[in-house]
Amino acid sequence: MKLYNIKQPSEQVTFTQALLQGLGKNQGLFFPKDLPKFSIFEINSLLEMSFIERSTHILSTYIGSELSKNSILTCVKNAFNFPVPLVCINNNVAILELFHGPTLAFKDFGSRLMAQMLNQTNHCSDKPMVILTATSGDTGAAVAHAFFNLSNIHVIILYPRGKISALQEKLFCTLGGNISTISVNGDFDSCQRLVKKAFDDSVLRQKLNLNSANSINIGRLLAQICYYFEGVSQLPHQMRNKLVIAVPSGNFGNLTAGLLAQSCGLPVKKFIAATNINDTVPRFLEFGYWEPRPTLSTFSNAMDVSSPNNWSRIEELFRRENKSIKELEYGCVNDFLTEKTVQEIADLGYLSEPHTAVAYRLLCDKLHSDEFGICLGTAHPVKFKELVEDFLKKKIQLILPIVLKERMKLPVLSFKIPKCFSSLRNLILSIMS
Ligand SMILES: *Cc1c(COP(=O)(O)O)cnc(C)c1O
Repeated sequence: MKLYNIKQPSEQVTFTQALLQGLGKNQGLFFPKDLPKFSIFEINSLLEMSFIERSTHILSTYIGSELSKNSILTCVKNAFNFPVPLVCINNNVAILELFHGPTLAFKDFGSRLMAQMLNQTNHCSDKPMVILTATSGDTGAAVAHAFFNLSNIHVIILYPRGKISALQEKLFCTLGGNISTISVNGDFDSCQRLVKKAFDDSVLRQKLNLNSANSINIGRLLAQICYYFEGVSQLPHQMRNKLVIAVPSGNFGNLTAGLLAQSCGLPVKKFIAATNINDTVPRFLEFGYWEPRPTLSTFSNAMDVSSPNNWSRIEELFRRENKSIKELEYGCVNDFLTEKTVQEIADLGYLSEPHTAVAYRLLCDKLHSDEFGICLGTAHPVKFKELVEDFLKKKIQLILPIVLKERMKLPVLSFKIPKCFSSLRNLILSIMS
């Protein structure tokens, strides 16, 4: 698989290089040079396969000969070892539950597959590999758990202090070992800026083999293509051609993966890009100018992103496919409506949480009567238990898996820094010395 840097197309890399490197020059994202296309016949046969078999097939079509089909199968088996149910909540809407992995959010898919693939590719380098990542909450947990105890890989995770829930923090800041965590006095976008600066820093580049496990890494994106296929495979046949998928979006990796799935032939009529009031993309699609504003804290905190990284990939995909970006549906949902929507979904007998509710709201508002809607369920409601209980004004019967319960008792091991690059650089150098 060949990929090019969107900002500097002359920079071309293999899949393995993109996997190891994360980001290209000038902070450009890598994008596949060839976009696989499955025929209708192939799509139908893919949709008949099991999740593991199908995912292996899709991934090896993208990746090509760099990884053998057998090693891809091993990665997929190790990474995707939890269920992905599609749950109908009324006659024309279903929720694709992507939160049954070890950290209870969809990011387990991408992080676990990426960790497995990095483990398979021989990184023959004398410098230690450091995975440097910013998180708005869920990435950190997923990445930390996916890489915990893998040999020769150190993970450093930045997150905005006080802007993630106690449970989110405990999930990934208590592991120790090859996982270091840093709380930054700033918001997610400032963490993301610090990470990008680190990738451009010559001192760090010289001493360390820096990599990112953010959704900028192509390995994560490819993983996510697989569950869109799984969702469609669980739908009755006649629904396939009237399918609308709503994606709760922050950094827009999830939507990018959905659009890639559509581009290789998955029958999806329409995607809805759903955000909270951090609405840079909806405003762009409405008015045509890109104007990020300061990031605001919301109930759906993993989507509190105002400069979404993956947007350039979405534009590139539409350009490559000669399609107009106007084909995307979009909208934003404020906290008040998010709360109302969690209540509305509970009235249907289904417990949701703020991220899923944002997408559900827009799906219901935009779905025509002859269409069928899938809303991506990106986080387990138990992760937002207090908030959801507050919305519903009652206690809910959800309990944390026992391993997570034990984890809640452990101390947070994070370093603290101001949002200043030299502090980050010094800390990384001291952690790795
Ligand atoms: C990360 C996250 C999102 C946003 O996904 P992107 O790929 O960044 O757009 C939505 N919901 C939850 C629960 C998340 O953790």
